[in-house]
Amino acid sequence: MAHDASQAAGPGKLVIRNIGLLLSGALEKPILDADTIVAENGKITAIGRAKDVNTDVHTEGATTIVDANGTTVAPGLIDSHVHPVAGDWTPRQNQIGWIDSFLHGGVTTMISAGEVHMPGRPRDVVGIKAMAIFAQRAFWTLRPGGVKVHAGAPVIECEMVEDDFRDLAAAGVKLLGEVGLGGVKDGPTARKMVGWARKYGIQSTIHTGGPSIPGSGLIDKDVVLEADTDVVGHINGGHTALPDDQIRCICEGCKRGLELVHNGNERSALYTLRTAREMGELSRVILGTDAPAGSGVQPLGILRMISMLSSLGDLPAELAFCLATGNTARMRALDCGLIEVGRSADFVLMDKAQHSPGKNILESVQLGDLPGVGMTIIDGIVRTQRSRNTPPAEMVAEVVVR
Ligand SMILES: [Zn+2]
Repeated sequence: MAHDASQAAGPGKLVIRNIGLLLSGALEKPILDADTIVAENGKITAIGRAKDVNTDVHTEGATTIVDANGTTVAPGLIDSHVHPVAGDWTPRQNQIGWIDSFLHGGVTTMISAGEVHMPGRPRDVVGIKAMAIFAQRAFWTLRPGGVKVHAGAPVIECEMVEDDFRDLAAAGVKLLGEVGLGGVKDGPTARKMVGWARKYGIQSTIHTGGPSIPGSGLIDKDVVLEADTDVVGHINGGHTALPDDQIRCICEGCKRGLELVHNGNERSALYTLRTAREMGELSRVILGTDAPAGSGVQPLGILRMISMLSSLGDLPAELAFCLATGNTARMRALDCGLIEVGRSADFVLMDKAQHSPGKNILESVQLGDLPGVGMTIIDGIVRTQRSRNTPPAEMVAEVVVR
C-alpha cells in the first residue's frame, strides 16, 4: 500500500544508539547484530555497530538522538485487523482515544477490516463507496497519535458490479472490509467480487467462523476457500472459531494469509500456529486484535497475542514479534514492519517488565509476561515515551538531543 508518508515524515536525522537487542521483524533473521539505527526524513538510512567505522551510523548532523539505554528496539507493531469509525472515537464501546492507547501498546500501524461500526452505515452501493472513500481520506489526513490507520475498507453487497471496484481503486481505496459482514455470504459471489477487487489492486479479507454479533453470519471453510481472499481474516474466529478440521482444511487448501486475532478463540489460534509451523509456513501467520469489538478495545492486544503465542505455543519470542511486524508488512505491501534501509522509521522500544522472572525480554515474553514499552517512534519522530498502559519496563530509552 503505497501511501504518501512525506506529509508526516520527520524532517532531519534521527539516531538511536546503544540498542541492547535489535529485532528485525524478519523470520529468516529475527535478531540483527547492530546497536545503532539512523533515519533521515522518516526512513531508515543505516543500521550497524557504532564502533565499526565502515557503517554509516555516526551522530553527526542528528536532530534527534535517542539513547536506547541497552533496551530492545523492534519495528512498530502492526494490527492487521481493526474496526475504526471516525478519528480516535469508537461507537462500539463508546470510547475516545482508543488508537492513542494502542500506540502505548506499541502499535504504529493499523489495517481496517471495515468501518462497520459506523452508526447508520449505508448499505446501498453509492453510500458504501462514499463511506469507503471518506474513511480512507479522513484517516490519512488525521493520524491519531501519529498512528498510520489504513482505512476505507468497504463491505461488499450483492448489488456491486465490476465498475464499482474500478471506481473505488481509482479513488484511492486499497482494501475490502471483511467479506461476510454484508449481504454477500456465498462463495461464488464472494469469489467473483474478490477477483474484481484484486484486478484493481484492492486487498481482501473475510470474516471466518461464527457470527460475531447479532446480524452477522457463519462463514465456513467452503466459503473461505472459494472466496479466496488475500487474508483469511481471524481464522481463530471473531469470537466463535470453526472446528479444528476446518481450520486445517483452510491452512492446507490455500496459500493465503492466516490471521490470528485477540478477539478470537485462543485455543484455535494455537492450533493454527501449530498447523502453520508443521507446514513450514509460519510466514503466512499475521496478528490483529479485531478491536473495537464486543469484547472491547485492547490497547495491549498485539503484545498479548505475541506473549500468548510465544508462551503457550512454544514459539521463540523473537519469531513471535515477526508475526506482528515483518509478516504483516510483506503480506500487505507496507513500507514499515522491518528494520531495513529504506523502510519507514517506525519503532517500538521495550524492555523486560519490572519483576518479570525472565533473565531478558525474550525469556520474559516466552514465560507469558508482557514487555514494558519505553518509547514509540513513527516516521522518525518520537511519539510517546514510557507507556501509560504496559507494565513498567526495567530500563527506558531517553531522548538526549532533540
Ligand atoms: Zn469478523
